[in-house]
Amino acid sequence: MNLAAGRAIVPALPPVRGRLTADAPLAPLVWFKSGGAAEWLFEPADIDDLCDFLAGLDPEIPVMGLGLGSNLIVRDGGVPGVVVRLGKPFATVERLDATTLRCGGGASGILVSSAARDAGIAGVEFLRSIPGTVGGFVRMNGGAYGREVKDILIEAEVVLRSGERKTLALADLGYTYRHSALPEGAIVVSATFRGHPGEPAAIQSEMDRIASEREASQPLRSKTGGSTFKNPDGHKAWQLVDQAGCRGLKIGDAQVSEKHTNFLLNLGGASSAQIEALGEEVRRRVKEKSGVTLEWEIQRVGIQP
Ligand SMILES: Cc1cc2nc3c(=O)[nH]c(=O)nc-3n(C[C@H](O)[C@H](O)[C@H](O)COP(=O)(O)OP(=O)(O)OC[C@H]3O[C@@H](n4cnc5c(N)ncnc54)[C@H](O)[C@@H]3O)c2cc1C
Repeated sequence: MNLAAGRAIVPALPPVRGRLTADAPLAPLVWFKSGGAAEWLFEPADIDDLCDFLAGLDPEIPVMGLGLGSNLIVRDGGVPGVVVRLGKPFATVERLDATTLRCGGGASGILVSSAARDAGIAGVEFLRSIPGTVGGFVRMNGGAYGREVKDILIEAEVVLRSGERKTLALADLGYTYRHSALPEGAIVVSATFRGHPGEPAAIQSEMDRIASEREASQPLRSKTGGSTFKNPDGHKAWQLVDQAGCRGLKIGDAQVSEKHTNFLLNLGGASSAQIEALGEEVRRRVKEKSGVTLEWEIQRVGIQP
């Protein structure tokens, strides 16, 4: 925020039809339940509202997408600029043909996989186990059980930082493991996924199998950010963390999960600084023990206070 003569200068923001909130706390909106506020939180009414807003917004102001915050540490000083959260108007799933769905950027993995089951479309079951939105899946190349978004994505529709609406083909997204080349400040408003024909009952039993495997192996009801580190080539991150003696390691109320050592937990009152410091300590110990440098999978956004 700019300061002149000790007073904040609030930039004039374009008018919106959705909801625009100043100084909006983000902790309630993310899985870790920690961190500061967004300078502005924008929940657009529809795609045109988002396009018009971004087209009229000072290009200097940073813009970031937010889904369910299931892979995010929001730093305690908050996020400068505008955080765009796609709510109910974007939680849609539309059947295009026998094996293809167009899904809104705010649709959850459970909604997409359930709609695919009802439409007799197999191959999308893995999204049942990833607690995020289509926007986050496309950005992160989310995956589980041997499949990832790049295996089912045909194209994604985005609104660029300039406000221009654009369709990106699979090849444009430059996918690698848990990474995409989504342009800076672009918001994913929909994605087209293709599976293959399947029996709804068989699809449901695959979804049930995935859900119960998850339940057994991950701390699903905790304040967490999912897998903290990417699996380095030839290694499992959880194993390296375990071998470095970090199972259960704590800084304040931040702890390495006992159940799954690639998950960090907020046991209650941890700050984002404590959670991030714990992650860095794990990286240090793993490097010392095994020589491997772990790379963060969790996105860390915002500023330190
Ligand atoms: C219990 C648990 C289990 C998990 N298991 C898995 C797993 O098996 N596999 C896996 O891949 N991940 C897993 N995750 C991590 C997480 O669910 C995924 O990364 C998911 O894709 C994040 O989606 P989200 O919508 O919540 O995104 P967020 O966490 O809100 O954001 C993640 C990133 O995506 C960007 N983003 C979000 N929405 C948009 C949008 N509309 N447009 C542009 N950018 C956007 C954000 O800016 C940020 O960079 C797990 C997390 C938890 C808590």
